[in-house]
Amino acid sequence: MRTIFHLDLDSFFVSVERILNPELNGKPVIVGADPKHGRGVVAACSYEARECGLHSAMPIKQAYKLCPHGIYLHGHHEEYSRFSKAVKRLLEHYAPQIEQASIDEFYMDFTGTERIYGSMFAFAKKLQNEIEQKLSLPCSIGIGSNKTIAKICSDYAKPKGVTYVMPGMEKDFLAPLPVEVIPGVGKVMLKALHERGFYTVGDVAKTSEDYFGAAFGKYGIALWHKANGEGSEYLSPPQERKSISKERTYAKDEISKEKIEATLFKLTAEVSQLLRNKNLLAATIGIKLRYSDFVTVTREKTVKPTDDDKIIFETALRLFRKAFNRRVSVRLIGVRLTNFSGFSEQTILFEDKNTLREKMFRAITQIRNKFGYSSIKLGNS
Ligand SMILES: [Mg+2]
Repeated sequence: MRTIFHLDLDSFFVSVERILNPELNGKPVIVGADPKHGRGVVAACSYEARECGLHSAMPIKQAYKLCPHGIYLHGHHEEYSRFSKAVKRLLEHYAPQIEQASIDEFYMDFTGTERIYGSMFAFAKKLQNEIEQKLSLPCSIGIGSNKTIAKICSDYAKPKGVTYVMPGMEKDFLAPLPVEVIPGVGKVMLKALHERGFYTVGDVAKTSEDYFGAAFGKYGIALWHKANGEGSEYLSPPQERKSISKERTYAKDEISKEKIEATLFKLTAEVSQLLRNKNLLAATIGIKLRYSDFVTVTREKTVKPTDDDKIIFETALRLFRKAFNRRVSVRLIGVRLTNFSGFSEQTILFEDKNTLREKMFRAITQIRNKFGYSSIKLGNS
């Protein structure tokens, strides 16, 4: 039996806005577009706003009609991702495996950890308190034998709750719940289910799989299995980052080749640094060049896997000199690294990692991690 947690931060964007501005506490707060001009939707809203009938994805104009006294905010997206990362770091301290499903949702596999953490319900409570205390973020946690059950449970627990469905109790727990608790049941599907007389999850579960296959195809079969308490028991492995890139758009289009090359030097130093932070080597080095008339050129070259500033810069420079063949000023220049491989343990221990150059790069990385990127510069950047 697996023990899967689904942790969902409660009205996350609103919670972050309230950390940034505590005056928003207790008030109906809506993050999304400007209701007077925008045509957007509600990205998140507080429980006070939900009492007026608001929900996420509702058109902002409709929200404004229902809740004209609400506080409408555009949102601070860089802050949301900063807080999301902080939550993940905290969870990584405990969870053997994490799958981040969205900016405010995390699956964790705690199978076999009872001997370390004790009762899973009490442990979830402790985790919840720690996140609230250290980061001022409320969350809900669902625990179950698979991802689907865990997700339904965290939703059921909202706000600030923990729901644990004991193994074997999945069908009993689900049966009385409205059918729309099943992930993936949207408006259209819900209407179709209601038309056929299915209102609760139990209504679906006690009908045959064949019926759902015939009525809704593959989707119907998946729905039937979820209604019967089944779901993925294993988390997806972490997604590897596919590329590292940096771009610079000039405030005023640049014509000087020397200045563009200096920018290129700085950008390659930055991407190389990010590459080394991740202990990766890149085999493909690319550049992007956008002229002031928006004609965009990209070029790339594959080399022996490297994390060396000098090789990356020299390759990018050659690509740039070949590509920059028009007498038109440049609006944007960018560098992109792809085709990654990792170091083998042995490379790290015995090979070039011990050379003077490597020691220097490691020292630079440490200094930059501590004092910021611009604390130290190489060569002519
Ligand atoms: Mg959430």
